[in-house]
Amino acid sequence: KKYKQGMEKTRHSFSGKINDLIARYRKVDEDFFEELEEVLISADVGVNTVMSLVDELKMEVKRQNIKDTKEMKDVISEKLVEIYYGDDDEEVEELNLQEDGLSVILVVGVNGVGKTTSIGKLAHQLKREGKNVVLAAGDTFRAGAIEQLDIWGERADADVIKQSEGSDPAAVIFDGIKSAKSRNADVLICDTAGRLQNKVNLMNELAKVKRVIEREIPGAPHEVLMVLDATTGQNALSQAKTFSEATDVSGIVLTKLDGTAKGGIVLAIRNELQIPVKFAGLGEKIEDLQKFDAHAFVYGLFA
Ligand code: GDP
Repeated sequence: KKYKQGMEKTRHSFSGKINDLIARYRKVDEDFFEELEEVLISADVGVNTVMSLVDELKMEVKRQNIKDTKEMKDVISEKLVEIYYGDDDEEVEELNLQEDGLSVILVVGVNGVGKTTSIGKLAHQLKREGKNVVLAAGDTFRAGAIEQLDIWGERADADVIKQSEGSDPAAVIFDGIKSAKSRNADVLICDTAGRLQNKVNLMNELAKVKRVIEREIPGAPHEVLMVLDATTGQNALSQAKTFSEATDVSGIVLTKLDGTAKGGIVLAIRNELQIPVKFAGLGEKIEDLQKFDAHAFVYGLFA
């Protein structure tokens, strides 16, 4: 239900176009597939992903001897879900958190994508699940970043560990780990800087932060979440590539899905980078974060 509301724009444009296509063509033929390709590409599903999807669809149509376009909705939904998961099991990909002891989540992403907001929402969600959550203000570079995280910490009722602007992010994270441990916290969520003007510095900084976490807690970070803005479309995909070259990203938080008709980017990201989308941002409020469920997402597109 949340998806249906949050994904209104994508849903309207996508299901509208598909329904229109089905009504106009009736018969499944080459022209139908060609227009279907256009619809998918305009929803930002990504050219490579669309090509493999359409190939699969053509094979399925042959196999099942489908003639009527009305039958295509189900086949398209099924294939979209299949394409999303690739060779992996078709189940919701949950956060990898420890049963006992402290779990560390490192959050990366370019300024403006919704990183701070997502950290606040995630903290809120974990708190509601009964977990004790601490935040570490590791973005010491951007003016106002620390204060902004503080505000979200207050909203989510999570302690924020911070130092002054310009201090060493690795030192802040080190502090965060110590404080989280002494508070017996379940989860430490670490913010990081997101300036992309100096890519090499940023990547070095991330690597250093990660080394500190690895040294302090074997097996950590348990998650490296990359925050991407769905409204930037294919640009989000190239940001994702840059970050995943520098650090192992274990999951994606795709924000602002409520603000775009191009929600198909979810499928492109998963299919082209093999990184699961773990959360979807569907608004600016603290509760507007959903665990990403590809079935609900895809079937929601046709609802
Ligand atoms: P950061 O620079 O990456 O930390 O970005 P912020 O967390 O400050 O967010 C930037 C803007 O995006 C703010 O105005 C947020 O309210 C907005 N925002 C974040 N997530 C979402 C979302 O899922 N949907 C919408 N509509 N806006 C969002």
